[in-house]
Amino acid sequence: MKMSNGVEIPTLGFGTWQVNEGPEAEGAVRVALEAGYRHIDTARLYGNEWSVGKAVRESGIPREEIFVTTKIWPTDFFDVRGTFDEGLKRLGFDYVDMYLIHWPIPFQPKAIWQALEKIYDDKLARAIGVSNYGTKELAKLFEYARIKPMNNQVRYNPFHHDDELLAYCRDNDIVFTSYSPLNHGYRLKDPVLVAIAEKYGKTTSQVCIRWTLQKGTISIPKSTHPGRIKENADVFNFELSVEDMEKINALG
Ligand code: NAP
Repeated sequence: MKMSNGVEIPTLGFGTWQVNEGPEAEGAVRVALEAGYRHIDTARLYGNEWSVGKAVRESGIPREEIFVTTKIWPTDFFDVRGTFDEGLKRLGFDYVDMYLIHWPIPFQPKAIWQALEKIYDDKLARAIGVSNYGTKELAKLFEYARIKPMNNQVRYNPFHHDDELLAYCRDNDIVFTSYSPLNHGYRLKDPVLVAIAEKYGKTTSQVCIRWTLQKGTISIPKSTHPGRIKENADVFNFELSVEDMEKINALG
């Protein structure tokens, strides 16, 4: 999918929250890249940037073919550029594909977003954006943003979906990323999902991911199990009908 600045973001990404630094993260990212994912989502908070970077750099896949997102956590807002530079060093990259404000804080100083704009101007991040922003936080940001956020990463799955926020992002040319597309693994045995999955010969996880994709969002499921990592990527050979999309919408 193209973002407002023309940069392409792969619709399926690999999430790495709660994937431990070291062999677990390195192995999971390696398997994900082998399975065809070309978009990896990490964050300073996840504590695994070093392993994510290593797996990407040692994959043999050209760096420019892999989209890597990382994020800044509010406790680091006092030094955005220093935090960004350290992250870049941990990843072992010359640039990141996207840098996000991980979570908004009340009365957020303008200087935080302006520091991200500077990182973008300096061509150290190909895109900048936010995460966990609601319409109020976005509207506040628009009051002073010289560069509009290109992405908002928000929890979005069959059981929790704020479609007003999704529409607001679309209207403002902000690509929407669905995090926790599997609802963190809870309720994957929901009877509505099970019945739909059986109909398409797919798993309920694949149905959840496909639903987020058909909603026009980017989806970033996480797993540390090779079989599931592959399963979650096998979502491009079926299409949920309008009626089934509606049934899943109603779960929220
Ligand atoms: P998720 O992707 O919705 O679900 C992950 C859970 O589902 C894990 O417990 C995983 O277990 C299980 N799972 C994965 N594939 C499965 C399958 N095919 N069958 C059965 N169970 C399966 O949850 P998430 O990690 O919360 O969200 C995904 C990514 O979004 C994160 O990793 C992170 O990158 C991002 N995120 C961002 C924020 C933010 O504030 N910006 C917040 C939360 C998440 P196993 O690992 O044991 O397979």
